[in-house]
Amino acid sequence: MNEQTTLSSTTLTLADVQARLAQRQKATERKLVNTCEECQKTYRPERRWQRFCSDTCRYANRANSGLRQITELEREVEFLLTENERLRKRIAELET
Ligand SMILES: [Zn+2]
Repeated sequence: MNEQTTLSSTTLTLADVQARLAQRQKATERKLVNTCEECQKTYRPERRWQRFCSDTCRYANRANSGLRQITELEREVEFLLTENERLRKRIAELET
């Protein structure tokens, strides 16, 4: 009567076991140590969805995120302007 149970447990491949082990290990690692998204320090998270080591970092990140977006956009604009200039020169070269 327990044939089915036995059968299903034997059909478990090595890859399945390894995948499960890796998953479990990952879960354990996540519980033990986390890297703060703001100060990059490692800390022991109290909650699974915790992203920062402290409230200070959490508020700092919120305050800085707008500034970071602006910096990123400025960098992108600079890149696009350079690229535009490069392509314009290339077109001029090709036209002569
Ligand atoms: Zn932090």
